[in-house]
Amino acid sequence: MKHFPVFIAVEGRRIVVSGGGDAAIAKLRLLLKTEANLTVFAQTPDALIVEWAAAGKLTLHRRAIEPGDAMCAVLFYAANDDAAEDARVAALAHRDGARVNLVDNLADSQFITPAIVDRDPVTIAIGTEGAAPVLARAIKKDLEERLPATLGPLARIGKAFRTVAEALPFGRARRDFWSEYYFKTGPEAIDKAGIDAVPNALNALLHKHLNAPKKVGFVDLVGAGPGDPDLLTLKARKALDAADVVIHDRLVTPEILELARREALVIDAGKEGFGKAMAQDDINALIVEHARSGAHVVRLKAGDPTVFGRLDEELEACDAANITWRIIPGITAASAAVAGIGQSLTKRQRNASVRLLTGHDMKGFADHDWRTLAKTGEVAAIYMGKRSARFIQGRLMMHGADPATPVTFIENASRPDQRIIATTLAKMADALADASLTGPALTLYGLAPRAAMIALEDLQEKEFA
Ligand code: SAH
Repeated sequence: MKHFPVFIAVEGRRIVVSGGGDAAIAKLRLLLKTEANLTVFAQTPDALIVEWAAAGKLTLHRRAIEPGDAMCAVLFYAANDDAAEDARVAALAHRDGARVNLVDNLADSQFITPAIVDRDPVTIAIGTEGAAPVLARAIKKDLEERLPATLGPLARIGKAFRTVAEALPFGRARRDFWSEYYFKTGPEAIDKAGIDAVPNALNALLHKHLNAPKKVGFVDLVGAGPGDPDLLTLKARKALDAADVVIHDRLVTPEILELARREALVIDAGKEGFGKAMAQDDINALIVEHARSGAHVVRLKAGDPTVFGRLDEELEACDAANITWRIIPGITAASAAVAGIGQSLTKRQRNASVRLLTGHDMKGFADHDWRTLAKTGEVAAIYMGKRSARFIQGRLMMHGADPATPVTFIENASRPDQRIIATTLAKMADALADASLTGPALTLYGLAPRAAMIALEDLQEKEFA
């Protein structure tokens, strides 16, 4: 980040603009939203600026900037539509101690003005450090459409009510009150009877919350999917938005953890296969302890929580402690992996069933029905199968599987660093060793990447070579 976003106090303070044409007008349109004292220096100001000056919205001086003109200004804009004049006035303003921005000149500017979504007092600033103005405009448009115009008035009324709301205990209780106001009671009151009805509705809401019984905690066991945040379900996002405590696995990506509510307590219960990490009993105890204290706990697991997730142990711990729970499914690694190679998990006339296997269990390498798997056309998605690749290969060959059966490893499925290693049963262990994968990998036994995708990858590799 080369620029750090802050909100500068400008109420009653000086902002000086040099320029009277299009560039100055564009900046002034934004600055007029503020409560700053605006001063414009322009030898030949546009009629619009003259109009603004006549209406008392700004002070206009019909001359070029001179030393001392930017004295005591918090911000200074060089907006002359003329690079040489911008450089001259910027140097003067700089000497006067003002923070300087030169329009369309990122390199010489001390600050930049973001794209703004204005729901005063809620203001959203979007910056791309000059890299992608198109992107900033698209994000702004999206937010403009999504945020109701009533958000501003609601926030203003809410702000005035803050001290009254302190009657509620700090933390969850107060947060729930505000959340219900902004997302339910406030908008509903406006819909029914207009903005004037909001203060009464707010009072009634506070009363309701003050008399509400104490919150009981509960647990959401949530599937985080394979890693791409876009593959989270809406329900998972809502749970993350609301959670007081998030207890997550090692495989949950930082991009997804970013989505947790800012105030949430985020706990890493990462468990490394075979390795040491928090013991399952400790995780169970942690979940129960937080839920008992009244928290909304999100137990966030990679993929789908019902697939090799030790979910039942956690559910049993909740049941034993009389804590309510809910399962929010996620996209399991097998689904993301087949999507990555353009194949189906099941296919007419090839395989009418598919197995989800684990490469190892509590005792070590896991045994399976190798005889059935060895038959032509069988498909299996093998989880945690990196270390057991040689064992699996040996068992399948021993039970008569065709050595040419396709095997595909998909590392980091759905993530930007996804890798696909296509091989055969005969070569799978060596191919895996050669690839030295470091991320989570799923083994698809009986499936090769779709031919069209291999051609595409070759092409891309050539293009980038
Ligand atoms: N509940 C998870 C699986 C947990 S077991 C799910 O439904 O996906 C952990 C194993 O899942 C890893 O060893 C790996 O085999 C697989 N896995 C999880 N995320 C993966 C990803 N993004 N890409 C490939 N494999 C993944």
